[in-house]
Amino acid sequence: MTLLRHTSKEIKDRSALTINPAKTCQPVGAMYAALGIHGCLPHSHGSQGCCAYHRTMLTRHYKEPVYAGTSSFTEGASVFGGQANLLQAFQNIFEIYDPEVVAVHSTCLSETIGDDMPQIADKAVKEGKVPEGKVVVTASTPSYVGSHVTGFANMVQGMVKGLATKKDKKNGKINVIPGFVEPSDMGEIKRLCKLMDVPIILFPDTDGVLNGPLTGKHKMFPDGGVTVEELRDTANSMGTLALGEWGSSLAAKYLDSTHKVPCQILGLPLGLTATDSFIDALRKMAGKSVPAEISFERGQLVDVMKDYHQYLYRRKVALAGDPDQLIALTEFLVSLDMIPAHIVTGTPGKKFEERIREITKDVPYKVNVKVEGDMFMLHQWIKNDPVDLLIGNTYMKYIARDEDIPLVRHGLPILDRVGHQYFPTVGYKGGLRLLEKILDAILTRKDRDDPETSFELAL
Ligand code: SF4
Repeated sequence: MTLLRHTSKEIKDRSALTINPAKTCQPVGAMYAALGIHGCLPHSHGSQGCCAYHRTMLTRHYKEPVYAGTSSFTEGASVFGGQANLLQAFQNIFEIYDPEVVAVHSTCLSETIGDDMPQIADKAVKEGKVPEGKVVVTASTPSYVGSHVTGFANMVQGMVKGLATKKDKKNGKINVIPGFVEPSDMGEIKRLCKLMDVPIILFPDTDGVLNGPLTGKHKMFPDGGVTVEELRDTANSMGTLALGEWGSSLAAKYLDSTHKVPCQILGLPLGLTATDSFIDALRKMAGKSVPAEISFERGQLVDVMKDYHQYLYRRKVALAGDPDQLIALTEFLVSLDMIPAHIVTGTPGKKFEERIREITKDVPYKVNVKVEGDMFMLHQWIKNDPVDLLIGNTYMKYIARDEDIPLVRHGLPILDRVGHQYFPTVGYKGGLRLLEKILDAILTRKDRDDPETSFELAL
């Protein structure tokens, strides 16, 4: 007996009710982005409950401590505004924890009150509550609109809005905004850029922050993260590559319009085609050629795609997650001749459906897509039209169990498996890992279900 046993097959129109959302709240993304700045303490301007939830979500996903401040709103702040709380918070945080940066995001409550965080941050600087050499960045993240992806994008934009500083000379670097991806993915993007011999500023960068080693020594601020100096210098780069429209385009467009740093918006480099586009854009922007090592990795991915094609051909998949991830995953599945049959995202954005329709236009199947959909809807679609595989976060395990369908865990949150912090799914090597996981799920199921007469030793 499982939790979703009452999900009905009959689909009814729902406009004012979400059941099992395929998203979480804006500040979770803002807090994650802030952790990608070196020496940063994220700060949640709202009630303690909000902050506890955001931290818990990230701690459970990464199995690492996630520190953050809170303005600790009570009844008084809820009525009269949270300025006094935030000013006091700045003083306490810098005195006690001594971070380089405090990255403040709002919450539903402080947004509804209408607190002006940049104004409060200015006041804190003028009153000497922000010590010399330390900085504050802010982002507006009301959670009654958007999702964790919107919050991530807003905080990344907040970083450049607050810090990017134009100089007379270009720095010879390329800004790369990795999108809402795992620390391991950020590490992989840096590795690929290094192989290409392209100097970059990657921001945010949670590699080394949320996937660090156990050393026996406590470090409040781990070694990883983009530095404040690097963030200031983003205004002087040759260009910006924004990976993932939903997560990265806001900051890239800001640098383009305000500091004349030309930007190119690409998809997440997940899967063969999207990684090709990233490597090609990097090559052109930096004027470099692609080294043999990268071509070798690409060839390995193509080899496995070809070797195991027969087990993937026309297999149907249901997916839930974030738009940038889903677009790249759908493109990858189509390149494997699989059928992305049902797709839902909880993050709004009109372009999402358009993009999915474009990618699946030659797929011989009527693909279901729902923007601002939920997992209940996905489950109903699956009941009406079963699939061979699920791809999504840990919450999908209930559908997997109810319908007896294998699940590849991907996205946020993953609360019951390890690996996402350490092994990338972007780049050619990441594509190979994702393919291995998909094949493993499908072939394990085949081994379980095949009759003895077709139970094969070698596949
Ligand atoms: S009140 Fe808003 S900001 Fe706070 S946890 Fe809930 S959705 Fe997130």
